[in-house]
Amino acid sequence: MKVTILGNNSALPAYGRHPTCQIVWINDEPVMLDCGEAAQIQMQRYGVRWRNLNHICISHMHGDHYFGLPGFINSMSLLGRTNPLYLYAPASLEGILQQIMQVADTELSYPLHFHALQEGSELLLDNDVMSIQSFPVEHRIQTHGFMLTRKSGGRKLLPDKCKEYGIPSSYYSQLRKGADYETKEGVIVVNLQVTEEGRPIKKYAYCADTLYTESILPYVQGVDTLYHESTYLDNDREKAMSRYHSTTAQAADIANKAGVKQLLLGHFSSKYKDLAAFKEEAVKTFFNVHVTEEGKTYEI
Ligand SMILES: [Zn+2]
Ligand SMILES: [Zn+2]
Repeated sequence: MKVTILGNNSALPAYGRHPTCQIVWINDEPVMLDCGEAAQIQMQRYGVRWRNLNHICISHMHGDHYFGLPGFINSMSLLGRTNPLYLYAPASLEGILQQIMQVADTELSYPLHFHALQEGSELLLDNDVMSIQSFPVEHRIQTHGFMLTRKSGGRKLLPDKCKEYGIPSSYYSQLRKGADYETKEGVIVVNLQVTEEGRPIKKYAYCADTLYTESILPYVQGVDTLYHESTYLDNDREKAMSRYHSTTAQAADIANKAGVKQLLLGHFSSKYKDLAAFKEEAVKTFFNVHVTEEGKTYEI
């Protein structure tokens, strides 16, 4: 599981940085989190292939998190997409998109399924490979965090061993769940003889825009990677609070209290040209921290 950062700035493009957008890769299947203005250009720049992108989550209705979306859904149609696209976003986005398409007399080449996010926490997607859950964060308008989980897929089969013991392929799903196998002769083949440990479960929590709030701790507790906004350095703590944003030290504080393994910082204010101080402040509280860079992919 990985995440590619396409936009790590807040509000405006500045110093070569762009509004928020990132792609989470779950076993090579991409999920888009927010779609700031430069999303398409950044995907081209960094060679991100979106053909099997089926899920997009929009955290809230501030423009730096969705102004790239009308263009992107239109481009996918121009390029002849036919697979359904699932969009999870605040309810008000649906009417905006409809109006844009209506005045342009555009009909998309693919089904767009819109899911209006409810307040509170909600399970948005749950299949064999992954789940996506929303949770509330605190911002000036209704805003959602997202928790993406890659499921383990169970134990990994050792094909040669399975053949050696004559285990039929119809029994493989049981082996993945950890079951032993009994041969016709009544001999028990212990699961450990024919499988090894599978992919571990991984969890990624995304908190786009939020002020410092411990209310998110139950949701992000112990995740492998937490992305937490850090719009300001700590000497702007009051400004951060009044604008419903966080400082880098506050993001590190949340990471520490939640016992996460890795912290990614982003959503930097356009007033900062150099971001070195963000790391310096954060490592005082939490050691495994990255000041995200656009175009970089981070292992979760
Ligand atoms: Zn923002
Ligand atoms: Zn915002």
